[in-house]
Amino acid sequence: MNGQFLRGKHAIVTGSNSGIGLGIAEALAGAGAEVTINSFTDSAEDHALAASLSEKHGVGVRYFQADMSSPDQCRALIEQAPGCDILVNNAGIQHVARIEEFPPDRWDAIIAINLSSAFHTTAAALPAMYAAGWGRVINIASAHGLTASPYKAAYVAAKHGVIGLSKTTALEAAGKGITCNAICPGYVLTPIVESQIPDQMKTHNMDRETVIKQIMLARQPSGAFATTAQVGGTALFLCSDAAEQITGTTISVDGGWTAL
Ligand code: NAD
Repeated sequence: MNGQFLRGKHAIVTGSNSGIGLGIAEALAGAGAEVTINSFTDSAEDHALAASLSEKHGVGVRYFQADMSSPDQCRALIEQAPGCDILVNNAGIQHVARIEEFPPDRWDAIIAINLSSAFHTTAAALPAMYAAGWGRVINIASAHGLTASPYKAAYVAAKHGVIGLSKTTALEAAGKGITCNAICPGYVLTPIVESQIPDQMKTHNMDRETVIKQIMLARQPSGAFATTAQVGGTALFLCSDAAEQITGTTISVDGGWTAL
């Protein structure tokens, strides 16, 4: 891969003011892409983050506020961007509860943000990709798109759905220079995972280190978290010419989780 092989391309990464989305935005900007980063907030920090990425990588980076639970705002994110050669659907939330106690509004929010947003952004982005004869749609699913865990009904359902959407997108776009794939990370230490640690400590009556080792990473045979840079590097690979014939599939970045 030429170090600046994405010069002239515009990438949009949903949910990218922290965690994995930010790692992907960094990787794409580092390869020369202009990037739109996004979240539902509109703070000085959000705009400062875009400015600092722009300065660091010498490419245009803009911040666009859009709430991925709103179909209209999903479409506005794409339609108001200067272009969309690369679309990364990454925004996601989590809620952990038994099915019979799972709050219906949390189910609806997770399905909207983790699954339906990818449908709306993809629908808005495809026409320009078809016109250009080139495009990359990368959906951030999860090891929970391939396997299940108790207490994560909405998340597991949404992530399985994201993989189905990725396959259908790939088939409709096949032969037109456009690929669509899903990346399936195992545990990556980001705010969404940090927020689960206190509950797990309480549930299992364990300290932080023991919860991380014996509960969270118990499913990850490598015994280590994946990093945001590793997921970013995987997204970058999917944008390269080497990945031109990779479409409609999943790439796991899970330390062996789904091999078990
Ligand atoms: P995170 O909490 O750091 O990032 C989530 C991002 O989504 C944030 O930028 C947040 O602002 C944004 N977001 C949340 N609600 C939004 C909304 N309504 N509209 C727009 N943006 C919104 O967590 P993360 O771990 O970086 O998660 C990113 C993605 O990776 C998610 O889809 C998550 O399911 C997936 N994932 C994470 C892990 C992990 O272990 N961290 C593993 C597998 C998959």
